[in-house]
Amino acid sequence: MVELCAAGRGKPDDVRAWLASLAELIPVPDRFARYTMSRDATLNFLKIGEHTLDTLAGDGLRFRDSDGDRFFEQHDVWTLGFHSGTNRSVSELASKSVVRFCRGAAGEWVRPMSWRVRTFAACPEREKCDGTWTHAPIRPDLVHGRVLETTVGPGARAPEPSGQVGGKPATVVLDCVTESRGEKLPLRSPLARRLYRETLGELRSGEIRFQALPGALAAQPDLARSHRITNCMSTATYLAKTLTEGGLTARSRNGYLAGVGAMPHGWTEIYEDGVWKILDPTVAFVARRWHLKDAQADQFDEFCAGSPYNRLIPFDCEAGAALVSHTHDAVAFPEVPTEVDARAASAR
Ligand SMILES: [Zn+2]
Repeated sequence: MVELCAAGRGKPDDVRAWLASLAELIPVPDRFARYTMSRDATLNFLKIGEHTLDTLAGDGLRFRDSDGDRFFEQHDVWTLGFHSGTNRSVSELASKSVVRFCRGAAGEWVRPMSWRVRTFAACPEREKCDGTWTHAPIRPDLVHGRVLETTVGPGARAPEPSGQVGGKPATVVLDCVTESRGEKLPLRSPLARRLYRETLGELRSGEIRFQALPGALAAQPDLARSHRITNCMSTATYLAKTLTEGGLTARSRNGYLAGVGAMPHGWTEIYEDGVWKILDPTVAFVARRWHLKDAQADQFDEFCAGSPYNRLIPFDCEAGAALVSHTHDAVAFPEVPTEVDARAASAR
C-alpha cells in the first residue's frame, strides 16, 4: 500500500485519460444528484492533483460551491474514477480487489469460507445520537452457509460510536461471523440464459453503462436504462423483472460482496430444479474488466450464470432496498451512510 501511494504521488496525472473518462460519463439526472464530496475528499478519492481537478471542473464535472468549499457529485466522482483507466482511484482499486478471487481456480470460488462482517452507520443529522438502528436480517443459508457468532445483531441496541463513516462518528449496527460456500449450479432455462447473456453483453459493449447510481434511481431500472446507465442493484432488479415477465420464478437480492473489505452488492436469484440459483452478470463484467482474459473469463461468465460463489453475504432484502435504517425523535431515515468491512475470519 505504501508503495502504491508513493508511486501514485510521484507520477504526473494523465489529464487526457481523465478528460476522456469525463467525456464518456453520463451524469445521474439532476433530481438524484448529491453534492457531498468536498474538494479534498474528491482529490483523495481520485488520487489526482488540484490542477487536474480544476481542469475537470472547467470541462463539466458537476459541483456546487458552498461555505467556502467546493462539493462534487458523489456518483459522478465514483464513475469518473472507475472508467479512468488510471488504476489509482478508489473506485478502481476497491472494485479490483473485491473481485480478485476470480483469478483462482474454480474450486476457490466454492470452498467454505468464514467472514467477520461489520457494518458501521452514521446518523445523517447528529454527531452523537442515541436513536435506534435496524439492519436487514443476514441470510447466509441462501448460499449454503450459517451464522457462527453474533456480537451485534439486526435489531440489537447499537453500542457507542466506534468507527467513522464519511468523517462522522459511526456505530456498529452489525457485527457477526458468518460462513458461506459456493456451489456449481449451471443454469438450464434457455430464456434465463439468453437474458443473462444479453445483460452481460450490454455491460461489456457499454450500450448500458456501468456507473455508480443513487439508491432511488437504481430502484427504477427502466428509468436508469432510459439514461443508458446501470449498477449492480439496478441490473439485479431489471433482470429479476424480465425473468418474472418471462414466466420464471425470480427475485433480486441485496447483500455484500466480501473480499479485502467489502462492497454492497445486488444480484438476481432464479428458482430452478428445486433450488435458488444466482445470476450475477455485474460481477462477471467487473471480474473480466480487471483480472480475467478470454478462456478463464468465459469460464467465470458461465459460472456466474446459476452458481453462487463463496463471497456473497445475502440479507433478507431486495436489491436496491436499504439494508440499514435509522430512527431518532420519531423521524425515520431510510438512507443512512454506511461502511462495511468483511474479512476472512478463519479457514475451515
Ligand atoms: Zn440519529
